[in-house]
Amino acid sequence: MDAPLLQAEGLVRRYWMRRGLFGRPAEVRAVDGVSLTLERGRTLGLVGESGCGKSTTGRLVLGLETPDEGRVAFQGSALPAPGSRAWRAQRARMQMVFQDPLGALDRRLPIGAQVREPLDIHAVGDAGARDARVMELLRATGLRPEHAERYPHELSGGQRQRAVLARALATDPALLVCDEPISALDVSIQAQVMNLLVELQQRFGTAILFISHDLRAVRQVSHRVAVMYLGRIVEEGEPDEVLHAPAHPYAQALVSAIPHPGRRGNRVLLQGDPPNPADRPSGCAFHPRCPVATALCAREAPELKRRGDGRLVACHLAHDTPLAKAA
Ligand code: SF4
Repeated sequence: MDAPLLQAEGLVRRYWMRRGLFGRPAEVRAVDGVSLTLERGRTLGLVGESGCGKSTTGRLVLGLETPDEGRVAFQGSALPAPGSRAWRAQRARMQMVFQDPLGALDRRLPIGAQVREPLDIHAVGDAGARDARVMELLRATGLRPEHAERYPHELSGGQRQRAVLARALATDPALLVCDEPISALDVSIQAQVMNLLVELQQRFGTAILFISHDLRAVRQVSHRVAVMYLGRIVEEGEPDEVLHAPAHPYAQALVSAIPHPGRRGNRVLLQGDPPNPADRPSGCAFHPRCPVATALCAREAPELKRRGDGRLVACHLAHDTPLAKAA
């Protein structure tokens, strides 16, 4: 059997953060034991509040940051050393799309030159083939040939994100990591860009790690959804399962906050703000905010385990275990 396109196991990324001017540095685990698998041509949605570690996870799987623990395999092989020739060659097969398209584009270069840039860097084809590829990518992303001559400030927000996608797809990557790709866009444009992502995936067969705080957006494009809280995945499953019957209390709170016509009440209100990652609560990190926490939750961190329905959940109460009954 073929290895998955992307496999990450036990990723840990630590930073040191000083508390106050004279405080001692404290360890922050931005990513704390994340494992994920992404198959070719599929989309995994990674969702959670700002600061939960989802963007750091995206950078770790691309090799833009080195994990302190754990490993990443791409097409069955460990990522090459950052900066090496093999790493640069592999980066052509793994691209990133950022939140702010204006920030991601060079304001001094016309769009066509920017879409062509990765082809020049990786010496793909001759000059004629590169020009033809630029036109193909502009058309595929819904831009017109004349947009090649325009500068970023002459395009709308939606057109700029299309240009960013065209550039990311230039080298025919097997994997796109899209980090909040629609959150800087007007609501009216967001749906267009989401539809375009699905269309491009079907056309080019690109796998996508779609990072977002917006559960509805994640559901629209994803084949699987992973919910993150304070550096860990707390639930992973099929989008419809997670959206219709979330098993983890944090996922339940996220789902209940989605506005839904006709739904009244039943919103799960979380207590307090997300905890300071430098001061991680004992046991289950969610327990100070969890509406159904038990004494066990403050003592023991739940493992991310598979349930009978195939879903992965990290909650003592989501599994029928002797430990949960003893709480
Ligand atoms: Fe809530 Fe306990 Fe489950 Fe954590 S383990 S989500 S605190 S019930």
